[in-house]
Amino acid sequence: MINPQGYKWFFETTTPAEGHMHAIKRTVVEARTKFQHVEIMETTSYGKVLILDGRIQSSQTDEFIYHEALVHPGMLATEAPPRSALVIGGGEGATLREVLKYPSIARAVMVDIDGEVVELCKKHLPEMHRGAFEDKRTEVRAEDARGYLEKTSDRFDFITVDLVEPLEEGPACMLFTKEFYTLVRDRLTPAGAMTMQAGMTKLGELAFYTALHRTLREVFPVVAGYQTFISCFGTPWGFITATKKVDPRRLDTQTVDKLIAERVKGPLDYWDGQTHQHAFSLPKFIRKAIDAQTRVVTDAHPLIMA
Ligand code: SAM
Repeated sequence: MINPQGYKWFFETTTPAEGHMHAIKRTVVEARTKFQHVEIMETTSYGKVLILDGRIQSSQTDEFIYHEALVHPGMLATEAPPRSALVIGGGEGATLREVLKYPSIARAVMVDIDGEVVELCKKHLPEMHRGAFEDKRTEVRAEDARGYLEKTSDRFDFITVDLVEPLEEGPACMLFTKEFYTLVRDRLTPAGAMTMQAGMTKLGELAFYTALHRTLREVFPVVAGYQTFISCFGTPWGFITATKKVDPRRLDTQTVDKLIAERVKGPLDYWDGQTHQHAFSLPKFIRKAIDAQTRVVTDAHPLIMA
């Protein structure tokens, strides 16, 4: 391969036959925790990136796109301003940071199975959490989020599922099933909303996204898919908002801008009324694939990524 600058490269496959390469300036830290292989690297194009089991989770440069897209469509789709939130997974604390932009939030719980990852992110990725772990409203728990949901009787206005992909032998396989989403629904308040990252929405690679969409439709009355392009992943990325009442697709540009002005403290750099309309307007081939999907993911037949 031609390598005129003499860069070291990090190579991530997006499909078995494609990938994305990042020139690396340095490895900030590398560790093997009880649950996963962790790397924090500084890249030439995207600043620091968090990599778990060889998969880029987020980058310093464009994480605002991912995290604003993950959080705000759900936080704006609760009937009243949300008072409590649960982040499932969430590693580097940027999801928590977005949740905490709502002054109405009195309690924000983050449940990540891997306390070591959270500690490494606290230390090496202050650009991402920006003090979210020190906020008085934050409660961080190092445990399996499914176990937590099974035993808690707490209810939340907003729950976001910010997990690693369900890799074989990985810690997240049983958190992408109908039984898991039923637990999420039952831990939401009556007018609550959930969001999740749901994998790529790239042409020819829609099986994962559409199966999750189909599975959520078994559990929630309102399921709305949306997408955005994440540059550091090199592919469009799918998200889903599911609610018990409000349909985010019915919120027009002015309403979203008004809700943001009323509910959010501080500027957003990605999400506004116009971005909202764009993200929820899925193209025809994705809508067709969603309609055609019949697979419901269950504990007996979980979705495992190769
Ligand atoms: N915000 C990130 C991003 O930018 O893509 C999302 C990924 S975040 C790093 C995913 C987190 O999910 C990891 O820190 C991992 O430890 C956590 N996780 C995996 N399985 C889990 C489980 N069963 N319960 C709770 N957390 C889990």
